[in-house]
Amino acid sequence: MTFHDFRAAHSGLAARCLQNLRRRDFVAGAALIGGSWITGNQRDVVIDPATGEAIADVARCTVAEMNLAIEAAERSFAAWRGLLPTRRGAILRSWASLMLHHSEELAVLVTSEQGKPLDEARHEIAYGAGFLEWFAAEGERAYGETIPSHKSGSLLEVRMQAIGVSAAITPWNFPVAMITRKAGAALAAGCPMIVKPAPETPLSALAVARLAEQAGVPAGVFQVVIGDPVELSGPLLRDPRVRALSFTGSTQVGRVLLEGAAMTVKKVSLELGGHAPFLVFNDVDLDKAVKGAMAAKFATSGQDCLAANRIYVQRGIYDAFVDAFAKAVARLRVGHGLDPATDIGPMTKSSVANKCRAQIDDAVAKGARATLGKQGEFVSSNFVFPVLLSDVTEDMLIAQEETFGPVAAVLPFETEEEVVARANASEMGLAGYVYTDNLRRALRLSEQLECGMLGINTASFTGPPIPFGGWKQSGLGREGSRHGLAEYMETKYVCFGDLAG
Ligand code: NAD
Repeated sequence: MTFHDFRAAHSGLAARCLQNLRRRDFVAGAALIGGSWITGNQRDVVIDPATGEAIADVARCTVAEMNLAIEAAERSFAAWRGLLPTRRGAILRSWASLMLHHSEELAVLVTSEQGKPLDEARHEIAYGAGFLEWFAAEGERAYGETIPSHKSGSLLEVRMQAIGVSAAITPWNFPVAMITRKAGAALAAGCPMIVKPAPETPLSALAVARLAEQAGVPAGVFQVVIGDPVELSGPLLRDPRVRALSFTGSTQVGRVLLEGAAMTVKKVSLELGGHAPFLVFNDVDLDKAVKGAMAAKFATSGQDCLAANRIYVQRGIYDAFVDAFAKAVARLRVGHGLDPATDIGPMTKSSVANKCRAQIDDAVAKGARATLGKQGEFVSSNFVFPVLLSDVTEDMLIAQEETFGPVAAVLPFETEEEVVARANASEMGLAGYVYTDNLRRALRLSEQLECGMLGINTASFTGPPIPFGGWKQSGLGREGSRHGLAEYMETKYVCFGDLAG
């Protein structure tokens, strides 16, 4: 089938699904600022990335509206911080249960504007609601400490206090969960949050905001402002009342935001790009390793910062692995995310699809072997058919930079020492994976690999209780876990002196 035929067969599908949503307010396209729904004088169009068709339109907010949001957040801070953590927790739990109640509609929104298969979108809603539930309880455990005193007649105490107004700039690959992972922590800590979602996926963010309001989150405590990223991030960076900024996206934009936040010395947490090494040793069970590589490479159609970008396979098992992996890749079905048979949807942005194509061309030109899908027929669309590149070498683009699409690069290696050096020879350090049956080796590698998160014999390890984040240029700070809560809190040391009277 050519892209022309595909497009004709799926024309209007996403728009019809959105029209059939029971919650019409989910597609009203209005921003939430200070408790009011703002439709805006100008509107932006939302596109179905599978067909390129317009499916909705949303407000394009102005700098003035972002300033109103900052004022509203500042006004809401004292009362929100003043609530008992149990009360804030109850509101977060109610928000989570509303998300689960509307899971199917939210999933349809995610798939329509992001492109991922509907089952993955359903999983994202459950994953996203999980952060609200988890932080609802963690907010009640924002313990301080008592320090054995080094001064006579004194008592030393450490308290954790809400930092103030926070802002989140979120990406399009997980348009729901990357909001709730940040907002769950901020709100549980007692901080209002302003979210600026990716322009590609505003509908998911606005629907989450509708449910926040319904759950009883007070005006100004959770706001979603949509529009041009550069324009709207300006006030968030410059305004000293915004005390914390959390960003998920590319390292390139992360650097710009870090620099911008320096003017007002904000607390910044960054979850940036990955370039994960996936190490397979001779001693493994081949089927388990292939299954792990499939999950680590092709989830979210490859548009995942945890994606296995460099699959290093030891020489003794190399040919068998490539053979079995190629067979598994060939079974992946590409299509519209709303089609239940689809494993791999479109790339959300054409720039991502183009980057995949450039990496494939570069690798093939430099001698990689490619197992190609029906690349040619869909070449001008957002679709990238799964490709397995074997015999990849370190001089190829795909071995040097993140792919963010369904292109798997397999590289042979000989020794453990060699592969550790190659895996660590990157400025990225988000996730890593090791498949081995050797316990001593697993323990050694858990020490030696330079990354923030490591899966040993598993490709599935994220969730609310774990500290999600990277080393080196993959980021700053952590999300999820008690570390994620601390990103929205200040530490206060108090010395009570002269206790002897
Ligand atoms: P991006 O970094 O440009 O976009 C992410 C978010 O930042 C979006 O909300 C976007 O609107 C906003 N943004 C972009 N430029 C901005 C600016 N100058 N000031 C303020 N906000 C800005 O990412 P992208 O171009 O959409 O994707 C490119 C690459 O980024 C991907 O190939 C991938 O490597 C990486 N990425 C990583 C993640 C992740 O989960 N860590 C998510 C999305 C993208």
